[in-house]
Amino acid sequence: MIRDFADLDLDPVLLQSLEEMGFSKPTQIQASAIPVALDGNDVLASAPTGTGKTAAFALPAIQYLLDFPRKKPGPARILILTPTRELAMQVTEQVKSLAKYTRLQIFSITGGVQYQEHADLLAATQDIVVATPGRLMEYIESETFDCRAIEWLILDEADRMLDMGFGPVVERLSAECRWRKQSLLFSATLEGHGVENFSARLLKDPQIVQSDPSRRERKKITQWYYRADDLPHKVELLKHILAEQSQKAIVFIKTRERLAELRGMLEKASIECAWLQGEMPQDRRNNAITRFRDGSVNVLLATDVAARGIDIPDISHVINYDLPRSADVFVHRIGRTARAGKKGTAISLVEAHDQPMMDRICRYQKEEIKERFVDGLRPQHKKPVFKKKKKTKASPAKKTGKKSTKRKK
Ligand code: AMP
Repeated sequence: MIRDFADLDLDPVLLQSLEEMGFSKPTQIQASAIPVALDGNDVLASAPTGTGKTAAFALPAIQYLLDFPRKKPGPARILILTPTRELAMQVTEQVKSLAKYTRLQIFSITGGVQYQEHADLLAATQDIVVATPGRLMEYIESETFDCRAIEWLILDEADRMLDMGFGPVVERLSAECRWRKQSLLFSATLEGHGVENFSARLLKDPQIVQSDPSRRERKKITQWYYRADDLPHKVELLKHILAEQSQKAIVFIKTRERLAELRGMLEKASIECAWLQGEMPQDRRNNAITRFRDGSVNVLLATDVAARGIDIPDISHVINYDLPRSADVFVHRIGRTARAGKKGTAISLVEAHDQPMMDRICRYQKEEIKERFVDGLRPQHKKPVFKKKKKTKASPAKKTGKKSTKRKK
């Protein structure tokens, strides 16, 4: 049973940086994945963000490089692929912190950076490269990046990479790295054809590390919802939560149009916020993330697409201004709070038409979410009851003649 980092076969320089980073005990995924990876196995791990997955692959990778030091300068030996630039940046930062007391060279290759900025680094000796697939492939095609010395290939958030259509590029990259010794694939879920087929092609006899952290993580997330009669009511509830309840909140909104509209309303109410929306220039994205991360603003508005891959510690509240279209996105959203053992709160604002989705979410996460009320902002409508539709479509008029959604105006 592994309880401490000292129980893992890690170099004292890694233990030192872990201590400085405030990682006192390994998380579940770290305790399970690190020994298996250090034993030389391919690893297939299920680990959503927030569970400590980055260190779970970075620590054994760094340890491997310390155990087998390079004999002469040369190209990268470990390649970590991530779906987004932000994630690549975060992973790079964390790997650099972990490797602080080593001489390893760590470098990231992502889109949004001029080739010129990469050129010198590409020519120099690198040990670990963190990259997004598209940009890396460009460099391989133009023969500015050499994959032949890669010994470990690590895929982070493989399910997101597949969702984003990176499957074929990653498979080509995997073929480029065919001389590698080991492959590690981390994914929030391992279910579904996509990840199963993908991992079968990329991994050799992998050891499956199935942590069940999501349920454990979720337990530390207190959840409730408020019912809203209409949009103005919803906005009032949100303002109340932001003013009275939350310290550092990420607010999820369905579309960028609604995000812009909400932003305007919050600004009018003198609630300062940063925001992320799709197709935002990289520098503005980074700026918004930095302002939120360093506490210059305590509210971040985001759409699901725009929030992909960002990891900000200490988010106290996840607020679902709009519910997502599927229950697994909901679970992914709320997983942004209660990171690595901390507590968090997830609050959803629910209009009548959202109730079936709310029920689906509760079924999916096998946990009831209770309703709460704010004095002075109680809903005027009764909670709608949506009856399950019968499968047979033949008889539209039900025997009872009752409507399934009965609401008073
Ligand atoms: P990750 O799942 O890798 O995105 O990590 C989630 C957060 O947990 C990051 O902010 C890490 O810095 C932090 N973290 C990772 N491992 C540990 C640990 N063993 N103890 C405390 N915090 C950790």
